[in-house]
Amino acid sequence: MSKKIFYSIWLVTSLVLLSCLTIVLAVVYSHFTQEQFEQLRDETRLATQGVILDGQEYIENLGQTDFRITWITSEGIILYDSEADQTVMENHLEREEIRQALETGSGQASRYSSTLSTRLLYTAQRLPDGSVLRLAITQLTVWHLFMRFLPQILIILAVALLLSSLLASRLAVRIVEPINRLNLERPMEAASTHKYDEIRPLLARLDEQRRQIQKDQEEIEKTSLIRQEFTANASHELKTPLHVISGYAELLETGMVQGDDVKVFAGKIRGESERMANLVEDIIDLSRLDGGAVGMRRERADLYRIAGNAVESLEGPASDAQVEVSLTGSPSYVSGIPHVLYSIVYNLCVNAIKYSEPGDSVTVRVHPEGSRVILRVADTGIGIPQADLDRIFERFYRVDKSHSKEVGGTGLGLSIVKHAARIHGASITVESEVGKGSAFTLSFPAAGPEEA
Ligand code: ADP
Repeated sequence: MSKKIFYSIWLVTSLVLLSCLTIVLAVVYSHFTQEQFEQLRDETRLATQGVILDGQEYIENLGQTDFRITWITSEGIILYDSEADQTVMENHLEREEIRQALETGSGQASRYSSTLSTRLLYTAQRLPDGSVLRLAITQLTVWHLFMRFLPQILIILAVALLLSSLLASRLAVRIVEPINRLNLERPMEAASTHKYDEIRPLLARLDEQRRQIQKDQEEIEKTSLIRQEFTANASHELKTPLHVISGYAELLETGMVQGDDVKVFAGKIRGESERMANLVEDIIDLSRLDGGAVGMRRERADLYRIAGNAVESLEGPASDAQVEVSLTGSPSYVSGIPHVLYSIVYNLCVNAIKYSEPGDSVTVRVHPEGSRVILRVADTGIGIPQADLDRIFERFYRVDKSHSKEVGGTGLGLSIVKHAARIHGASITVESEVGKGSAFTLSFPAAGPEEA
């Protein structure tokens, strides 16, 4: 960057310098031409006096001069020319300076001379007898002028270029230095003290991006930590039933268990296997939901009907637990993934049955309310202590671990509910009192009217 700035400054300075030199040369050139004319006029006046006194003899006696002297009659015929043969020269009556001299007494002109093949300055003066004396001198060309001042011009150019190089390099460093010193860790702090106002929007953008990156990084770290914890917990949860299964199997293998006990042990092995299967199923469900349910098709679904199916499928476990489950409400449409919606109602109902005592009841209600659809699963079961309410949606969190295992819990049911609700834009609230029961309320955005 500093190289680019250096070359730009250097180039601009050099161009300005060259332009100035050209202008100065033009001014000096015009001044010199005027001076030459002035001098030539004086010489013409002197020569005129000489010719008036001594005639042609005066001119001939002048010897070598810088001027060309021509004497012309009032008819334009050349009487004398110091540089050319007057007998072959054409009539000069039409020459500008001669015409002026004949009319006003004196004249001047500058033009290319075909006789001498060079550009000349002419001044002419009329004599008392009507003839005209003309003096001419080679006009100094710009090139001549340039060559005359060449040493000075070269010195000025060299000094100016050196100075501009020095200045350009210092300026380039000074311009770039504050940018290099910017503290990109704290762009806004730098913006408040930085001397370039123009750089502030850039610093503000950098700060915004830095914050976003920091937030993303924190999010990634948090997610990775949750995943690590989840993997550790899941492995632990899977290991426990495996140990139990292998322990019972070993006892059966050694023949230490006999008669009716074999049935009991086989039942325990089946129970643990079921628990493992449930856990694996929940882990798969959760990982699908964790990925945002990508690829799962949404449709207009009746949550009331879905809740009816879930309640129906739980009739067996409910009657085993001597818990009465009832469904109230009316058709309520949401836009969602039917089997995920089913898992929400199913998990909430399973918990309500699991954490109830024989004789308790579970009420499921689904109904539309304005632009929302409300699902409420309430039970008269054991309830949840206030201190645990915030944590029950965490993976593998249980209020009473042994009780949860006893009733076949995996510790993932409410996590699945939370993720499934989030995918559907639903909010969750929980009210609970120990010994009195719990109520989980989900509020879904209602689906729009059915398309024709
Ligand atoms: P689990 O498989 O252990 O039931 P969940 O994630 O479904 O795991 O629930 C987490 C914990 O929340 C449960 O262990 C239980 O202690 C508590 N819980 C959930 N639902 C209820 C409820 N309806 N009544 C009382 N406690 C509940």
